[in-house]
Amino acid sequence: MKKLKWLSSMGFEQEYHYDKPLGAFCGPDGSAIKLWAPTAESVFLHLYPTGNGSKALETVSMEKGKRGVWSYRTTRNLDGWYYDFDVTVDGVTRTTADPYAKACGINGQRSMVIDLSRTDPKGWAEDKSPAQCPEQVIYELHIKDFSWDSHGGFDAKDRGKFSALCRSGVTLDGDGKHPTGLDYMKRLGVTHIQLMPVYDYGSVDEENWESGYNWGYDPVNYNVPEGSYSSDPARGEVRIRELKEMIQSLHANGFRVIMDVVYNHTYVTDSWLERTVPGYYYRQKSDGSLSNGSGCGNDVASERSMCRKYILESALYWVEEYHMDGFRFDLMGLADQELMESLQRALDEKYGEGEKLVYGEPWRADDTHLTRPVALCDKDSLKYISGKIGAFCDDTRDAVKGSLMDLDAKGFVNGGGMETWKLKNCLAGWAGEHGKFQTPYQTITYLSCHDDWTLWDKLVATLDPKKNFTGCGKQILRANRLAAAINFCCQGRPFFLAGEEFGRTKTGIKNSYCSASQINQLDWQRAWKNQELVDYYRGLIALRKQLPGFQDKTKDAAKRILWVKEIAPDCAMACVDNGGADSKWEKILMVFNCSNSVCNGVLPGGNWQILADGEDSFRWQKANAAREKVVVPAYSAMILGEK
Ligand code: CA
Repeated sequence: MKKLKWLSSMGFEQEYHYDKPLGAFCGPDGSAIKLWAPTAESVFLHLYPTGNGSKALETVSMEKGKRGVWSYRTTRNLDGWYYDFDVTVDGVTRTTADPYAKACGINGQRSMVIDLSRTDPKGWAEDKSPAQCPEQVIYELHIKDFSWDSHGGFDAKDRGKFSALCRSGVTLDGDGKHPTGLDYMKRLGVTHIQLMPVYDYGSVDEENWESGYNWGYDPVNYNVPEGSYSSDPARGEVRIRELKEMIQSLHANGFRVIMDVVYNHTYVTDSWLERTVPGYYYRQKSDGSLSNGSGCGNDVASERSMCRKYILESALYWVEEYHMDGFRFDLMGLADQELMESLQRALDEKYGEGEKLVYGEPWRADDTHLTRPVALCDKDSLKYISGKIGAFCDDTRDAVKGSLMDLDAKGFVNGGGMETWKLKNCLAGWAGEHGKFQTPYQTITYLSCHDDWTLWDKLVATLDPKKNFTGCGKQILRANRLAAAINFCCQGRPFFLAGEEFGRTKTGIKNSYCSASQINQLDWQRAWKNQELVDYYRGLIALRKQLPGFQDKTKDAAKRILWVKEIAPDCAMACVDNGGADSKWEKILMVFNCSNSVCNGVLPGGNWQILADGEDSFRWQKANAAREKVVVPAYSAMILGEK
């Protein structure tokens, strides 16, 4: 206990904080390996020819230097060698890989010294993020889900791999007519691909990856790509090159790339961090047991200086080396504000303001135990942290489709009723007078993500007495279109889970983190079966990109919402000031009919044209007579523009 207190104290950091680079470095002039282990009595370095199995060819005693850093230097170029350490603390010796490793062997158990320049694909130096669009539309994707479906038309060697995102011209069952994969995503019009974990995680055996499945929220090596998505997890350089190739391909195809990062907890409590400096990197309760605000068994102590350095350097490394365009922080409500703000500042300074996005989940699973007074990045603190740090908005999500705590809970679109005050807040991205967000810049507005029921499953559960998840019921489709229309009319940054646009179902499974690939995979046949729903999303996205009143991310954005009123029970009309540089429509009028009867709406004076209705979100492209009245069918939306 006394030792734990010392480790978490400011005094310990004053004595041992080390601000220079750690890990392995190599080049033609020699190599160095540096490990921060201030409490260790001895550290031995083992060098291996392969990433697993083989015996160490060399073992050397590392030299302890200032501030608890152990070093090994040699005039040899160790590029391609694998290594680990034996770290002895209080008489207990633990074998550990390097927490700072940039490459590793199969399943991440040994680190690898690597010359990163040889992992760059052709043209990497010229790789650039595509220009920013007038709106950021974020699409959440899991690497294996994307290409695992055997009907998707992907080559066998690409299925479940990074490489599937490098292929154009892939079609359903190879029919040549129905694009899937990359071309499908381009057609959809999303601007940012948010990748579910692509760092090295522990729950899929990289040797038997085909039968394994996991979302990957169980980090092992924070600075190395996941091996099961590469063509050869045993060769450390391959996963690095293939992830770079994938990002290069996404950039070339017009997408920016957001990385999902899970710095709040590690896969196991005897992680490399713990084995290197036992007791330092995790938060403890007053009795010495581990804090568990993550619900995953441990909370990384982001407020401790060497831990903060570790996270900060890791995130900056992914941007610098892999050209990532931003981060989605898992359980950001566990991270301290100084960490998040330092990261945002560093990214803005280096890459230009707003170029790299930082947002996250502003909550945690449970209370966390801090050993010093720091403020965390949770929902209640959004008003006080840098307004450049974004957060997921559960209020809109729950208002539109019902709470995720209860499958039967309903929202606007599935018979739960429409409350005008709530709708008004949703439209303002909860950044208006009573919202938790400072501006819509902070708000990630969404209806579904990888967690919890898909939007489709939630709608089936609440609207279909037969619970036919795999069907394509007309009423469910109608409710889905209405939900999407509301989401794309909310200020903030629109976000959705890949497949939401085609009625993605996990057959009612709420938490599919380790369900079979067949449950999680994108069902490309379904994507074409529900092509009309896909087109509905496509039209909304294309329309959104033309509406400055909805794109406005400033603190005055809420003032653009001129009025919201109930025009019939559970049917609301709202008006938005859409003025802007080259605005096609001065004002936008929306009718959201969440009732089960037709609504006859009388429009305010003006030259109104229908831009989208409950069936067709591309009406803005078509000839369109001015009108004074509209008929809005049950469970449908209508969007109008004033010339
Ligand atoms: Ca792995």
